[in-house]
Amino acid sequence: MMDLQVTANIRESTRVLAISGGVGGAKLALGLSHLLGPEQLTIVANTADDFEHLGLHISPDLDTLMYTLAGLDNPVQGWGLDGESWTVMDALEALGGETWFRLGDRDLATHLYRSAQLRAGRRLSEVTRDLCSTMLVEHPIVPMTDDVVATMIETGGSLISFQDYFVKQSCAPSVQSISFVGAERAQPHPLWFNQLFDSELDAIIVCPSNPFVSVDPILSLPGVRDAIRETSARVIAVSPIIGGQAVKGPAALMLKQLGHDVSAWGVGEYYREWVDTLVIDQLDATLSARIEDLGLKVEVLPTMMNTLEERVCLAAAVLEMVKRP
Ligand code: GDP
Repeated sequence: MMDLQVTANIRESTRVLAISGGVGGAKLALGLSHLLGPEQLTIVANTADDFEHLGLHISPDLDTLMYTLAGLDNPVQGWGLDGESWTVMDALEALGGETWFRLGDRDLATHLYRSAQLRAGRRLSEVTRDLCSTMLVEHPIVPMTDDVVATMIETGGSLISFQDYFVKQSCAPSVQSISFVGAERAQPHPLWFNQLFDSELDAIIVCPSNPFVSVDPILSLPGVRDAIRETSARVIAVSPIIGGQAVKGPAALMLKQLGHDVSAWGVGEYYREWVDTLVIDQLDATLSARIEDLGLKVEVLPTMMNTLEERVCLAAAVLEMVKRP
């Protein structure tokens, strides 16, 4: 499993649940997958970004995780498959069809397969398992729910869908509030949810994902927030904000527009009720004392994960923390 000179002294019995969105989450999930076996690590993915487009069911975060763990991701683009071709999108554009959400040819095969299976009555978690197995991904990637939950953005007094905000309008609209339609009736998937009540679970690792649109949808499912508050496992979150900025995407914008401090401290304040340790970047070391004043433990580490080695190193450092009280 390990092809790098990174070692971590991890017990075989260590059990970890990783909470993840797409791009940022997948980087740490990949690092963890190099150090933990499939029985030791479960990754729960946000599915509130999922949407129907061109008649297809698209699951952006599940796919980013799956492609990243399979080593098939496009590291430059941050989404989709590496070495992708665009024949269908080009032909669709020539027809005057909708091309604002770019879908590569091989990526389309994933969506065609998923959509057909869902139409035939199978669950999203079952189809995800099939896709992962075809792509030789051994670690379980579990959708947060098999039910439909949709992130909606309130802007200028009206509601727009998340992908409209995120992709079509490139995060330009100012965010007034965020809601997760369907969350209150959705069932968290038992494959990950039951682990929250399992005394064998050592840690919940909140990957450096967007707190508002990747982590919050998972927490908004019935019973999840309370179960995480009461779990005996450590809850360790990695800040997606480094030096007052998001590495990618609208997390910093959202912190500002929703009235929070745009910093790792702001993330700590937002997470303080259910997280016990916040991992912050070495660039933010001066914030440590203020974050500790929030009642959180703080660990300062290099958290920028551009290379595989950086991902595995951060994962190893986080797993070392799991052993400590
Ligand atoms: P999305 O669903 O594809 O937007 O992905 P996520 O929510 O999982 O990740 C987006 C967040 O990841 C952003 O807020 C980024 O700041 C953060 N992020 C991306 N790469 C890194 C990294 O290398 N280190 C850290 N600490 N955060 C990162």
